[in-house]
Amino acid sequence: MSDYQQKVSGTFNERMRLIRLRRKKENLRFWEEFRIIPNGVIWTVVVLFLIAQGIAFSVNRWNATHYDNAFPWELRDNFALASLALAGIVTGLSLFIAAIIFWVAYVNRDAKRRGMNAAVWTLLVIVLLPAWTFVGFLIYFLMREPLPYPCPQCEKPVGARFNFCPNCKCNLHPSCPNCKHEVVETDKFCPYCAQDLGVAAPVENITQST
Ligand SMILES: [Zn+2]
Ligand SMILES: [Zn+2]
Repeated sequence: MSDYQQKVSGTFNERMRLIRLRRKKENLRFWEEFRIIPNGVIWTVVVLFLIAQGIAFSVNRWNATHYDNAFPWELRDNFALASLALAGIVTGLSLFIAAIIFWVAYVNRDAKRRGMNAAVWTLLVIVLLPAWTFVGFLIYFLMREPLPYPCPQCEKPVGARFNFCPNCKCNLHPSCPNCKHEVVETDKFCPYCAQDLGVAAPVENITQST
């Protein structure tokens, strides 16, 4: 029982180490990432923002002319200043809401591109929003699968879940020939038993010996 547990947690830790390595290689840039948000979503947010500003201004002017009670009330004597302050408040709120909408759209697209269940993850993030605000996003960013990456042997992109490259049959999850733990292609020595994995061509060496 305990031996089994050790084995399971062992492979889990190896998996996590591999995922960390893959993620580190992803080297994502904010604006390139922002571009995966569909243009339709961005324009919808911009239009909604303009509509919100328009409604806020109209309602405020109605209140100012009919009840002499423009918001914020401290500025009700100066309608221009009150309008400016209200526009600022609406902008601040809109930025907050827009950030949430963009994050949800990003999670949807990013999950799809990583071969994850986009519908389930988008739903989870939205469901957690009211009570837990950004916890859903945090869970997503901790759990998300690595992006497809170039095969270490032939450079063709391979999925993060692949065990072998479909193009050149390269072993994508090489294991140590001595202790059989999973190692990553950049390891010079096995991190579990210090076995020399070969520096010149680590991938071929490991592929042959397993
Ligand atoms: Zn390959
Ligand atoms: Zn080893």
